[in-house]
Amino acid sequence: MASTQSEGPSPTMRLPKQNLIAVIGTTGVGKSKLSVALARVLNGEVINGDSMQMYRGLDTITNKHPIPERHNIPHNLLGHVTDRSSEYGLPQFEREAAKIVDDIHRRAKVPILVGGTHYYIQSFLIRNMTVASSEPRNLTEEEAKFLDECDTSELFAKLKGVDPLIASKFHPRDRRKLRRALEICWTTGRKASQIYADQKQHGQNQQVDNARYRTLVFWVWSKPEALNPRLHDRVDDMVKKGNLLDEVQEMSELYLNLDPLPDVDRGIWQVIGFKEFLPYIVSGKDEDREKGIQDMKRSTVKYATTQVRWIRRKWLVAAAEAGNDVTTVLLDASDLSQWDEKVEKPATEIAKEFLSGREIHKSLRVPDGLEDMVQPAQEKDNSARPDNWRHFACDICMDDGEKFVCVGEERWKVHLRSRRHRQTLKHINERAAFERWKAARE
Ligand SMILES: [Zn+2]
Repeated sequence: MASTQSEGPSPTMRLPKQNLIAVIGTTGVGKSKLSVALARVLNGEVINGDSMQMYRGLDTITNKHPIPERHNIPHNLLGHVTDRSSEYGLPQFEREAAKIVDDIHRRAKVPILVGGTHYYIQSFLIRNMTVASSEPRNLTEEEAKFLDECDTSELFAKLKGVDPLIASKFHPRDRRKLRRALEICWTTGRKASQIYADQKQHGQNQQVDNARYRTLVFWVWSKPEALNPRLHDRVDDMVKKGNLLDEVQEMSELYLNLDPLPDVDRGIWQVIGFKEFLPYIVSGKDEDREKGIQDMKRSTVKYATTQVRWIRRKWLVAAAEAGNDVTTVLLDASDLSQWDEKVEKPATEIAKEFLSGREIHKSLRVPDGLEDMVQPAQEKDNSARPDNWRHFACDICMDDGEKFVCVGEERWKVHLRSRRHRQTLKHINERAAFERWKAARE
């Protein structure tokens, strides 16, 4: 951009951003395969961006790419967490990934970040606008530990103390948003609600220089009709070879000895397959084994659906805000017999183009017919409407032993009409009728 001294303070000199390639997409779609292929051609190294694959061992249940298929390409941050009872978290990932990317650049190689934990990848690649613009301090070890380890209810209480307005905006169980807001409050020394309000005033759609690297992202995608049978087969395969159940057995020996038992949605325990097969490991019953298989298939498909939703609602939105430094390219991996023509070859060509400093032409960023996939699916933004931040607790519906909570009147109205609420109400009325009947008999 042209700028002269007379227009204001001279712009800070910036070094050109370093290149980074990332491969994102659902579980079982072929991300690892593509990343190794790219690394071989481009003199690259792979960095793992899947939170479960940070843990050592458990290669089957966490879907680690088999060693022979890694073709001697270095894989960083893979299986480096040895303590399974510890919880690996985002701040740790950001620190470690930044260090490794620097190191790979120093060795004049190309970092290829691959993984399905898309919020790790997004937080790392695209700094949150608010934080980028206010040059915060880093979290202290103690703060990072709190954010990683506290219960969601503690997180909510803490945020409420620091910034009650922003706390009222979020659902008390929305761990990710709560921790992000608290992190912003701590690192900026300001209230997150105030920062958001300032941003609103300065116009929402301004592009901010918030991409950490000049980034090319390959989104490997498959039609669900093609992907889901592959995911089912993978579960059958893991069970048939025996490794999966051995690993669940191994995990359960540690798990069942921990006191109190950790939540199965925290740390390594949330890996798909563990909670599904734990009943079988304990009971040894065939029916529990069968149920484990069905449940694991269902969880895997559900996870893949969530991953695509994340990419469309979060990644594409953030990438658009980050401007020209971030380019997302969609690759169609629906038909594995066309992997070379539709995935590997185009990705390799595009990556070379990118590394030579050129912009990727729009027509190359999405295969014909899939244009709709890359339209960012904006989430409804309620942040400009404080009237919509009110919390409504339902007196009859429970959420893990606590009253079910809705944020905003619109959602509350939807809840009152929901099947869930009506069923609960019906149940209570039936119960009351029964009690009256019983009392009348006595
Ligand atoms: Zn209700």
